[in-house]
Amino acid sequence: MRKAQSTPRPIAAQQASQSANAAGRLLNLISVVVPCYNESDGLNTLHAALTPILEAISPCHEIILVDDGSRDNTFDIARELSQKDPRVKAIRFARNFGKEAGMAAGLSHATGDAVILMDADLQHPPAVIPEMLSAWKNGIDMVIAIRRTRETDSWIRRSVSRAFYHLFDAVSEVRIPQGAGDFRLFDQKVVQAIVSLPERNRFMKGITSWVGFRQECLPFDVANRASGKSSWSLLKLLRYAWDGVTSFSTLPLRVWSVLGMAIAGMASLYGIWLLISTTVFGIDVPGYASLMVSTLFLGGVQLISLGVLGEYVGRIFLEVKMRPMYLVADSIGFPDPNSPSPSHGSDA
Ligand code: UDP
Ligand code: MG
Repeated sequence: MRKAQSTPRPIAAQQASQSANAAGRLLNLISVVVPCYNESDGLNTLHAALTPILEAISPCHEIILVDDGSRDNTFDIARELSQKDPRVKAIRFARNFGKEAGMAAGLSHATGDAVILMDADLQHPPAVIPEMLSAWKNGIDMVIAIRRTRETDSWIRRSVSRAFYHLFDAVSEVRIPQGAGDFRLFDQKVVQAIVSLPERNRFMKGITSWVGFRQECLPFDVANRASGKSSWSLLKLLRYAWDGVTSFSTLPLRVWSVLGMAIAGMASLYGIWLLISTTVFGIDVPGYASLMVSTLFLGGVQLISLGVLGEYVGRIFLEVKMRPMYLVADSIGFPDPNSPSPSHGSDA
C-alpha cells in the first residue's frame, strides 16, 4: 500500500538493504509532537482527528502540544484537552521562539519508541500515520512524508520553496528530498541524536538529513489548513531559507575567494596591457569611465563579501552566547515544569 517507490528516495535507496535486521519492532508507546502557534481554533479538531487513529494503533500514546508563545488561548485549550484525555501533554514557552524551537522542545520531551512530528493545522493528515508506522516496524528509522503537490501554497510561496531547494542542493552537501517538510516519524534513537546536537540556530530539514539513519520517503496529499492562517510571511520564509543555507554550507563564504582571484587575474592582465600600450603607444590620459566602473564594482563586491562574512559572524555570536533555545513557562503532564533543562538553540 505504501507508495514510497514512486518518489525519488536518494537516502532510502542506499540504506534500504540495512533495514532487515531491525525489522519487527515492538511499539510500547507512540508520541506525537505538535508545535502550535495561535492554534486555539484547531486544537479540538486535531485531537478528534488524531485520537481514533492513535487508538487503533495503540492505547499507549502521548500527544505533546508545544505552545510557542501563542497570543490566543491555545494553552487553555491544551489544558482542557489534557483534563479530558490525560495522554495530552503540553508545554508553554515564555514567548514565541519559533517553530524550530517548538519542534526541538517537543522532541526532547517525547519518550515514545516512535515519535511523529506534525503540524497543528491538519495539513499533515493523521491518516498517513499508520503507513509511517508500518515502515518503522519494518526497520526504517525515519519516515519522511513528502508532499505530492504544493497546490495549497500560494504561487509566490511555491516559487520561493522551489528556488530554495535548488539553492540548498547546489551549495550544501546535505540532501533534502524535494517536497520534504516537517511531517515525519522518528525512531527514538533518531530523536536522541537530533536532541543531542548542540547547535542553537537549528534547521530541522537539514539536521534530519545530516543525522542519517535508515530513511524512507512516503508521498502524501497535503490538506488545506483546517482553521486560522499560516504564520509564515514572505520575509519570515526568506529568513528561514537563508538560515537553512548558512547553517549547512560555507560556500557563500568561500565564493568570494574565487571571485577575488578571478578579478585579481583580470586586473593583472589589464595592468600588463596598460604597461605595454603606454610604452609602445605613449601615455593616454582618458580613462575616467573605466576607473569609475572598476572602483564602484570592486567596492560593491567588497561590501557584499563583508555582508556575507557578517552573516556568519552574527551566527557565531549567537552560538557562543550559549543562550537556551527556548524557555518553558508552564507545562502539563510532565513531572517538572522546566524539565528537561532548557536545551540548546537560538531565537527564531
Ligand atoms: N508554528 C509554531 N511557531 C511559529 C510558527 C508556526 O509553532 O512561530 C507552528 C504552527 O502552529 C503549525 C506549524 O508550526 O502547527 C506550521 O505552521 P503554519 O501552518 O503557519 O505553516 P505552513 O503550513 O504555512 O508552512
Ligand atoms: Mg500549515
